[in-house]
Amino acid sequence: MEKRKIYVVDTTLRDGEQTAGVVFANREKIRIAKFLDELGVDQIEAGIPVMGGYEKEAIKEICSLGLKASIMGWNRPIIKDIEASLECGVDAVAISISTSDIHIKHKLKKSREWVIENMVKAVEFAKKHGLYVSANAEDASRSDMDFLIEYAKAVKEAGADRLRYCDTVGILEPFTTYENIKKLREAVDIEIEMHTHDDFGMATANALAGIKAGANYVGVTVLGLGERAGNAPLEEVVMALKHIYGIDLNFKTDMFVETAEYVSRASGRELPAWKAIVGSNMFAHESGIHADGALKNPRTYEAFQPEEVGLERQIVIGKHSGTASLRAKFLEYGIHLTQHQAEELLPRVRAAAVDLKRTLFDKELIYIYEDYFGYKHHHGKRD
Ligand code: MN
Repeated sequence: MEKRKIYVVDTTLRDGEQTAGVVFANREKIRIAKFLDELGVDQIEAGIPVMGGYEKEAIKEICSLGLKASIMGWNRPIIKDIEASLECGVDAVAISISTSDIHIKHKLKKSREWVIENMVKAVEFAKKHGLYVSANAEDASRSDMDFLIEYAKAVKEAGADRLRYCDTVGILEPFTTYENIKKLREAVDIEIEMHTHDDFGMATANALAGIKAGANYVGVTVLGLGERAGNAPLEEVVMALKHIYGIDLNFKTDMFVETAEYVSRASGRELPAWKAIVGSNMFAHESGIHADGALKNPRTYEAFQPEEVGLERQIVIGKHSGTASLRAKFLEYGIHLTQHQAEELLPRVRAAAVDLKRTLFDKELIYIYEDYFGYKHHHGKRD
């Protein structure tokens, strides 16, 4: 991958909040916007201004914070939507309409011509008012490619700054994504944003495939919050770009865990231990071979350093532990186990872990140690 600038558009506050059952308080929206800005997000999709009320107030307040990031409002191709965005003070708008026949026929009950005509009018109106415009192609991944190209040409002609390519129902896989974006890029000279959903678990992979094919914007949410299975997670996309594609966007990645924990609490969605990039298990090593390797050189079993995302390495003692981890763990307690002692202790530690069906707490390890070697022998007689 050649080094090129990729812009990150975070929509935690719009698509993320659209997740069934998720609602942010205004103060939470503002806090999240500050987190995103500090992390290094280029554009924050802050919400839907035409909803009015609390939503509009939150967007207004985010606009008044003086953040470095561009603030974007989400709109239908309707003039009053864009007027509401203007009233909030956003500098950018996403204007969204479906481009797939299934949506045009069954949802909009209109024609392809109507879609283009309305979109062009809305884009022209927004551009006339000095806004940056993303023309969204909702359900782009199920749209007829010839029509999508026609749509892209029309919105570009109307002044749109970029096209948001939405895999609205998450049915893409990376190879198809690559082909589609390449075709679109070759047919129309317009910047493209990938907006991918995770219905088949490929949101991040599809976002990366789109970038490889020439897209230079990527839509994400913290923890992948979003409709149904969610969107491409911010932390995954940024870290994958850095470590797999070699594109370092200079994000404050060490804030990822703190940000994820905050959004998890605010959204009422638990942050699973096995979550990619920010889960607490990312740098927890239990199995003997892995822990032994990680203790000798962490790079043997870690894709990147825990500090990079705000995590810590942990050696966890359980059923799969070996003597190297046991010795390292006891050293943390100031106890130097010989290899022989570790070998003697290991079957007891494993038996306890199987018995309890979990890993062991520090105290439990100490008890096993004391029971086996005898408290008196090592510490003298208690009074
Ligand atoms: Mn979406």
